[in-house]
Amino acid sequence: MTTNARHAAIAAVTNYKPLSPALDYSQTPSHAVFGSNVFNMSVMQERLPKTVFKALKKTIEQGEKLDASVADAVAVAMRDWAIEKGATHYAHVFYPLTGLTAEKHDSFIEPDGKGGALAEFSGKQLIQGEPDASSFPSGGIRATFEARGYTAWDVTSPAYILENPNGTTLCIPTAFVSWTGEALDKKTPVLRSMQALAKQATKLLKLLGTTTPGYIYSTAGPEQEYFLIDRNFYFARPDLTICGRSLFGAPPPKGQEFEDQYFGVIPERVLACMLEVERELYKLGVPVKTRHNEVAPSQYEIAPIYENANVATDHQQLVMITLRKVAEKYGLACLLHEKPFAGINGSGKHLNWSLGGPSVGNLLEPGDTPHENMQFLLFCAAVIRAVHKYSKLLRVAIAHAGNDHRLGANEAPPAIVSIFLGDMLTEVFESIEKGKVKGPKSKSFMSVGVDTLPPLPKDYGDRNRTSPFAFTGNKFEFRAVGSSQSIAGPLVVLNTIVAESIDFITTELEKASKGDPKKMADAAQKLIASVWTSHKAVVFNGDGYSEKWHKEAEKRGLPNLRNTIDALPMLVEKDAVALFEKYDVLSKRELHSRFDIYTERYCKDVNTESLLCLSMAKQSILPAAYRYQGELASTASAMASAGRKADTTSLDAVTDLVAALEKGVKTLEHAIDHKASGELIDHAKHFRDEVIPAMIEVRKNADALEQIIAEDIWPLPSYREMLFIR
Ligand code: ADP
Ligand code: MG
Repeated sequence: MTTNARHAAIAAVTNYKPLSPALDYSQTPSHAVFGSNVFNMSVMQERLPKTVFKALKKTIEQGEKLDASVADAVAVAMRDWAIEKGATHYAHVFYPLTGLTAEKHDSFIEPDGKGGALAEFSGKQLIQGEPDASSFPSGGIRATFEARGYTAWDVTSPAYILENPNGTTLCIPTAFVSWTGEALDKKTPVLRSMQALAKQATKLLKLLGTTTPGYIYSTAGPEQEYFLIDRNFYFARPDLTICGRSLFGAPPPKGQEFEDQYFGVIPERVLACMLEVERELYKLGVPVKTRHNEVAPSQYEIAPIYENANVATDHQQLVMITLRKVAEKYGLACLLHEKPFAGINGSGKHLNWSLGGPSVGNLLEPGDTPHENMQFLLFCAAVIRAVHKYSKLLRVAIAHAGNDHRLGANEAPPAIVSIFLGDMLTEVFESIEKGKVKGPKSKSFMSVGVDTLPPLPKDYGDRNRTSPFAFTGNKFEFRAVGSSQSIAGPLVVLNTIVAESIDFITTELEKASKGDPKKMADAAQKLIASVWTSHKAVVFNGDGYSEKWHKEAEKRGLPNLRNTIDALPMLVEKDAVALFEKYDVLSKRELHSRFDIYTERYCKDVNTESLLCLSMAKQSILPAAYRYQGELASTASAMASAGRKADTTSLDAVTDLVAALEKGVKTLEHAIDHKASGELIDHAKHFRDEVIPAMIEVRKNADALEQIIAEDIWPLPSYREMLFIR
């Protein structure tokens, strides 16, 4: 019997021995390690001079401007704390437009001039860094001769210690900008959009009579889906190693159709890995709370308790990094791609989103008093209007090559953006529209207008897994985000479009009520009714996966941008530019640079996949097929020489498939051989319209071969092996 990478992998998996020593919780229970590697409020309070702590706290908890003079004192305290925790280096951590996390490490070492060295870290080094930025995408914002990019300390996201057996690193979350102050990263616009949202929400709250709304921010709780498979399989599959998804693979005899996986018992090795992931995240102050098996075999989910959206975004990046890192220790590979296995559920990242603050609470909480109802209904109406009016921007925020394989497949929301509100809340809006809700009974403006409404129950209805954007009790859940994506992009869009909508609602309310509290109830009711009338088309409580909905959505005029390349141009449409510029979130130049970077990224992703598809077809699948074809042919000729009639069904089938595969390979080679000329978007369209279909054709014949070629010859670990041997 021949041995190949597949056989070696299977043997290695079967012989797996745990690599990590068991964790011991008796001395340090989970709650005790929580935040132990974070330069958090209590550490700051303990270590900073009182006035410095107060100033910093104001910035962090109330969104006030940072007084730069405090930086030196903070730097000293941070350095001492970090060195006590074994840190040798500090790193400005930033989030370039690749969607990944980047770090530039510098040691604390400074020569003392006498042949020795000191550990130094100044306020200036804390506040600003200057990584050599020329290797990060800038989309034309930064010419190569002016490679300078700056990282700027984000005070509102706490610094932390990253452990390594050979020394720890002090990590400082930063924004990454060009020397002209333009955003080169994902964090800067998140911060800007949160500011815009806070400003508009504060205005509306004041108009509604809340005199001191305090600090308002958006909140995010991202649920992360992922696959864990054995590392030996992962390395025996170049497609998984290089592209994160399998480019080949026949469906397994058993998939997810037994529905025995979701919330099923978690395999022991996987659970051990999860426990360590959680332990590491607790140290970093990431409040992960929930874990479970997902629908597909070997698919899981991890979800945190929600936080301030900016901090949640940084923490989400840490979740992805930690999952990958810890998985290695358990001989596993964590797959974050949106669709690692065709025909089996892909992975998403459900972004739970709301807005509120310490003094006003969650603004999407229906509450159970009429005045809270009015506030809630206005904010909820703002979201409905925003999602309807700017659904193309939400679509573009989740557009990238990986997510194209998932959106609109069987398990994920379609590319049509709609809202699930639930029957109860839909009825409430409908009754307001029909004017069935009577005017105020009491004269006090607090109990106005909507006081005939029943208190809104929290758990008011069914869940809908097929909606891309669902109201779930006191928050919205944006379910179409891809599992590998940063949540920054979707947050920027959500915050900005809702800010614009709240601005609209405030302006209309002001006009109609002329600021008179007595007229507020009536004005609010009319406004909610008219917003509902204009934007209810986006609300759909039915089955988002059905063909019927696609037709219905078209009738309603809802855009259906089926793939990344259809969606990306929306980023630079006139309306989008006007919106982002009006609220100081992204300038025209910044939007165009993003459009360029994301389009180019799409081309690179598909290009890499197509080259790998070719090499796997030519170097491993065809050779295996020829070998098997040879075996079948010699069997047939041996039988013929023995004077017996041979059944050539298998030989004929292999021969036909080999011919089809060879033809497919030629077509793909031809499609790849395409010079990038003219507009970038046209190049991207070529990848979408020529290269991807050619890859699909190659795969079709290769997968058919997998199902007939002898087990001992087939070179690639199969879906069955990767998903079920663990
Ligand atoms: P599910 O049943 O979908 O798991 P949960 O209520 O457990 O629903 O919440 C899922 C996610 O939503 C969690 O990460 C949770 O912290 C988050 N979440 C809850 N409330 C909010 C909120 N106000 N803003 C943002 N995210 C929230
Ligand atoms: Mg959920």
